[in-house]
Amino acid sequence: MDSEASSDRIRLRREPHLGSYDPGVIHAIIDTAPICHLGLTDHDGHPLVIPTIHARVGQQLYVHGSAASRTLRRLAEGIEVCCTITHLDGIVLARSAFWSTMNYRSVMIFGHARLVTDPDEIELALDAIVEHIAPGRSAEVRRPTPSEIKATKVLALSIDETSAKVRTGDPDDDPADLDADVWAGVVPMAVHSGDPIPAVNLEREIAIPVSVRRLRERDQL
Ligand SMILES: Cc1cc2nc3c(=O)[nH]c(=O)nc-3n(C[C@H](O)[C@H](O)[C@H](O)COP(=O)(O)OP(=O)(O)OC[C@H]3O[C@@H](n4cnc5c(N)ncnc54)[C@H](O)[C@@H]3O)c2cc1C
Repeated sequence: MDSEASSDRIRLRREPHLGSYDPGVIHAIIDTAPICHLGLTDHDGHPLVIPTIHARVGQQLYVHGSAASRTLRRLAEGIEVCCTITHLDGIVLARSAFWSTMNYRSVMIFGHARLVTDPDEIELALDAIVEHIAPGRSAEVRRPTPSEIKATKVLALSIDETSAKVRTGDPDDDPADLDADVWAGVVPMAVHSGDPIPAVNLEREIAIPVSVRRLRERDQL
């Protein structure tokens, strides 16, 4: 267990030895995950969990979407939100179903999102989201127009009340099963990029840009 939990509700009870509150560990998990899930309740108290793109700048986690988005409008009211971020790193096959599990890195963040209204911070957040998905891309694409920015909502969540949980390695078999004639081990899993597919309406011969080459180098299949 690294460092201390900043609140009681983020203190890991189940398998606390897999937990971490180290900002370095937490930031690395956030920065390398393509998406997060935002958990909140609607006006009727019904739970919602929405997958969305995110980007981190310092201690701020930014999300964006249509100004008409029900989720973003609800979050802009300042209600509580729980954000989860997950990497699935492997299927862990023990000699019994009971002890089989997964290798993973995950983060949970609790807090209240803030509607971003400052134009400079909106621009910073939107660029960060583009860069999070395809580093170098924001310098290649046309800048957003004022009407596109007006049609976009940006929210920020402070990464303060947060925990990570990381499982690595072999199955933890029941010692009584170790002699069983059953294969045990780990099947690694990861998200990879494939060969880029040019848009069908890409009429001119345009070279693969730096951002796409970087994506391929980073996440090669
Ligand atoms: C890909 C994946 C698959 C999983 N599969 C299962 C499964 O099948 N069954 C199962 O029981 N559990 C599974 N887990 C673990 C699960 O996420 C919970 O950690 C576990 O169920 C304990 O839940 P709890 O509410 O008792 O945790 P508690 O330890 O009581 O939670 C207290 C606090 O610890 C922190 N915390 C708990 N879990 C996490 C986490 N995963 N990441 C970051 N912070 C966390 C949060 O701040 C939470 O509020 C899986 C996790 C991942 C990432």
